Amino acid sequence: IYVLGIETSCDETAAAIIKNGTEIISNVVSSQIESHKRFGGVVPEIASRHHVEQVTIVLEQALKDASMTPENLDAIAVTKGPGLVGALLIGVNAAKALAFAHKIPLVGVHHIAGHIYANRLVKEMQFPLLSLVVSGGHTELVYMREHAHFQVIGETRDDAAGEAYDKVARTLSLPYPGGPHIDRLAHEGKESIDFPRAWLEEGSYDFSFSGLKSSVINTLHNAKQKGETIPPEDVAASFQASVIDVLVSKTVRAAKEYKVKQVLLAGGVAANRGLRAELVKAFSEMNGIELVIPPLHLCTDNAAMIAAAGTVLFEKGKRGDYAMNAYPGLDIENF
Ligand code: ATP
Ligand code: MG
Ligand code: FE
Repeated sequence: IYVLGIETSCDETAAAIIKNGTEIISNVVSSQIESHKRFGGVVPEIASRHHVEQVTIVLEQALKDASMTPENLDAIAVTKGPGLVGALLIGVNAAKALAFAHKIPLVGVHHIAGHIYANRLVKEMQFPLLSLVVSGGHTELVYMREHAHFQVIGETRDDAAGEAYDKVARTLSLPYPGGPHIDRLAHEGKESIDFPRAWLEEGSYDFSFSGLKSSVINTLHNAKQKGETIPPEDVAASFQASVIDVLVSKTVRAAKEYKVKQVLLAGGVAANRGLRAELVKAFSEMNGIELVIPPLHLCTDNAAMIAAAGTVLFEKGKRGDYAMNAYPGLDIENF
C-alpha cells in the first residue's frame, strides 16, 4: 500500500510517499531555517506563511518524484499535533482537500509517533521496544509493547534537550538552530567544566535540563566578570557530556528494566554525533538488545516518518474525517 505523508508542525514543509510502511518512494522537505535565523528562533506567523507557499509545491514534487498521481494513493497521513497551531492547520487542510477531491482515506498522526516510526524506514520493529525521543520540543522515553501503542515512561519536567542545546548555543552567540554547532564545537573541546547532572528521584525516568542550562549561563557570566575567558569549545564539550550522560544512563536502565528487544533513537537531537556514539558504545556491550539509529535526514522533521506511522495506523483501522482539526498539545498515549 502507498501512503502519502504531510508534515507542517514547525518549520519544515514536507511531503513523502511510503510503500508498505517501510520503503521510501519519494521524500521532499522544504526548510524555512534561513527565514527564522535572524530572529534566533521560529516565528509562528512566518512559519504559517511559508507553509502556505510551500505545501502545494512539496506535494506535487512528492507525487512527481514517485511518478504517481493521487489515484495511486491508499491513504493520506498528516501531522495533526503537537506543534504550532497555525502551521499544523496548513498541513491538515491540504490533506483534507486532497482526500476529499480524490476520495482517499485520511489518517491523523502524532508528530512524535512519526519521529519514532522513522526507525521503521531503517529496520523492522521488534516488540517490546523503547524509544529515546530527543527533539526541539520533547525529551521522552516511550515504551511500545506493540505497533501504534505508546506509553511514556519518562519525560522532561522543564526544557527539552533540543531547547537546552539551542539556548546554550545562543549564550555562546552561535547561530540558530544551535544543536549542530554545539555538536561540532564539542568535538574540538575538553570536558574541563563539571556541569551538574539532573538524575532526579531514585528510579525516575524523567529528565530536567533547565538547571544545566542555568549552570552554563552562570559559569560564563562569572568568568566574564572576573575578566576570564573559557574556550567555547570546552563549554560545548562539558555541556554535551552532561546531557549525554543522563540520556544514555536512563535509556540503558529503562531498556533493562522493561526487558526490551530494541532501542530506537528519535527526534532532531538524534542527529547528535556524541549521543549516537555513546549509545552505540553502551548497547554494544549489552546482549540481546538491538540499537537502531536513523540516518540524519530522517532524524530531523520530514514527512516520510509521518507516512510510516500513518501506514500502521491506517492498517489498524484508524481514520480521520473532514472535521479533523490541529491539536497543539496532542497526547501521544491517546490520539
Ligand atoms: P518536536 O519534534 O519536539 O515538535 P521540532 O520538530 O522542532 O520539535 P526537531 O526538528 O525534531 O524538533 O529537532 C530540532 C532540534 O534538534 C533543534 O533543537 C536542533 O538544535 C536539534 N539538533 C539538530 N541537530 C543536532 C545535533 N547535531 N546535535 C544536537 N542537537 C541537534
Ligand atoms: Mg524543525
Ligand atoms: Fe520534530
